[in-house]
Amino acid sequence: MTAFAYLADNGFLKAGAATDQRFAVAGVAWDGSTTNRPGARFGPRAIRDASHMLCDAIHPLFDVTPLGELGDAGDLPLPNTSLVAMRDALAPLAEALLRRHHMVWLGGDHSITLPLLRAYRRWLGQPLAVVHFDAHCDTWRDHFGEPSGHGTWVHEAFAEGLVVPQCFAQVGIRSAAERAARDYVKDRGGLVFTARELRGLDGARELAPVLAAVDERLAAHRQPPLYISLDIDVLDPAFAPGTGTPEPGGLSTNQVLTLLEALAARRCVGMDCVEVAPAYDHAELTSYAAAHFVWTYLSGQVARGL
Ligand code: MN
Ligand code: MN
Repeated sequence: MTAFAYLADNGFLKAGAATDQRFAVAGVAWDGSTTNRPGARFGPRAIRDASHMLCDAIHPLFDVTPLGELGDAGDLPLPNTSLVAMRDALAPLAEALLRRHHMVWLGGDHSITLPLLRAYRRWLGQPLAVVHFDAHCDTWRDHFGEPSGHGTWVHEAFAEGLVVPQCFAQVGIRSAAERAARDYVKDRGGLVFTARELRGLDGARELAPVLAAVDERLAAHRQPPLYISLDIDVLDPAFAPGTGTPEPGGLSTNQVLTLLEALAARRCVGMDCVEVAPAYDHAELTSYAAAHFVWTYLSGQVARGL
């Protein structure tokens, strides 16, 4: 695996190069599938930079730091103009990394999640449960005539049997979409919590029904391995302006943190944080939010042990 020397002290949380640590992050700096504003290829480095504010990275809720157990594999060497070539190149790199480390993937646009789920499905030998934070349902059958992109991966993951449909939960959905796309996951037995349904629900007690519903589904399907895919545009543009397809009426950073802190304390197999596009950001709000989300996930997983 390529470990970049320049990452010696500049990885996520200033972690050094990924070698044999239990946890690692890797950048998937691809944005060739964006349908609106491009720029998410610069997400990984902005999230890393923002994470450097976190100093010793001791998490106030979990009372642990991922440092010491964390490496950074750098931005993976990928072609940057062909979706098919990118996915072909990413698959073996991803598989090698996730066999060695508990991974967090820094996007990149959301099209990277499909090859990642394929890699997990192959490695684990079973379909996954997914909690999918997003403004968009990403269930479209095509992308303005193209068969695959950052808005089709959910439907492709269902079609390929990468996920357990009843254990696929979407949070924060609110974009324009035809009914068949909006209800795609629900129509196949999964869960959809729209941004509208979550208005005004902030704290742990108020959001407990969301987590209870997810837990119930996982228990009913013999606890499939749980993966978290977090599209930063789940946040309202007031909290995350730096993204390619901002959708007003989104979740607050606190709402996402409330859910993520609870999910991070559960057994998970991996996470991605995608669609951070720093060129549209203000005061690095979006990068800081993404860095906090990734740090929260890692801290929860460190605290819960093996
Ligand atoms: Mn998305
Ligand atoms: Mn989105």
